[in-house]
Amino acid sequence: MKDLIMVKNSAQKRAARAHQKSRPGTSLPEALRAVDTRGTAVLPPVAADPAVPWFQSVPRRRTTCLLCGKRETVLSYSNDPSDLGRVAVYCDNERCDVRTVEVVVVRDGDLATRQRADVRVLEHFVGGPLHDPAVVSEHDDWIPGAVPWIRHGEHRYVECLWCGDETSRRSATDLLADTGRVQMYCENADCRVRETEHVVLRDGTWQTDERPDVRSLRYIDEPPIFRRGPDGRSRGFVYPRDSAIFAEDDKVARRVSTDPVDWEAAAFVR
Ligand SMILES: [Zn+2]
Ligand SMILES: [Zn+2]
Repeated sequence: MKDLIMVKNSAQKRAARAHQKSRPGTSLPEALRAVDTRGTAVLPPVAADPAVPWFQSVPRRRTTCLLCGKRETVLSYSNDPSDLGRVAVYCDNERCDVRTVEVVVVRDGDLATRQRADVRVLEHFVGGPLHDPAVVSEHDDWIPGAVPWIRHGEHRYVECLWCGDETSRRSATDLLADTGRVQMYCENADCRVRETEHVVLRDGTWQTDERPDVRSLRYIDEPPIFRRGPDGRSRGFVYPRDSAIFAEDDKVARRVSTDPVDWEAAAFVR
């Protein structure tokens, strides 16, 4: 391994770096093995896995925030890369109150997607006007209750988080009354995704925290031992958050589960 890293041949090193760039996650020794001393590829380049969302395939990528319209959306620290049906994003724009947005594929031609617990939750709780209508001042780009930027024009396209093409537009079934949730549709025929729900999970307001759809998504993600009843009290002994519970917990298994959802408990989760 060591002799591979200490390669002096700059053509090979350059080619290896380029190879690494084209295939995120490749280590330098691996990349060096993939090119010869003249910098020619000796292994055929492997195409990016089409199942992996484009937005999470390269770190520090930015895209347009559907709420404020600024190119300040980054991958959220809470994103779980093992869930290929979901991407968590974060708006970095200080003039936009949006923090985390959960993006869930709700239709992609795969029946299993329709049966996921989180997809059924979003179908069950369709959302609605949770905030009073608001108008953004000259100091803001978006505040809760304001009309999302994507709804201001009829023909606005943004990059699809799965295929990366600028083919994502508002879906025909996007619910205009709900300013905290937008449904998008990808027009790219080569993209596996058709409709995605973009749910504002956090914007610093209690109205958003208490939305039944937001609560239900949190309910699914929380290890069952942390769940609280309608009285706000935990049903079990709550261990410190940094305990081994999170390490052993499999929230993605609960997200994709086809088991019935306890709607009432889900909507009451704190
Ligand atoms: Zn924003
Ligand atoms: Zn797409």
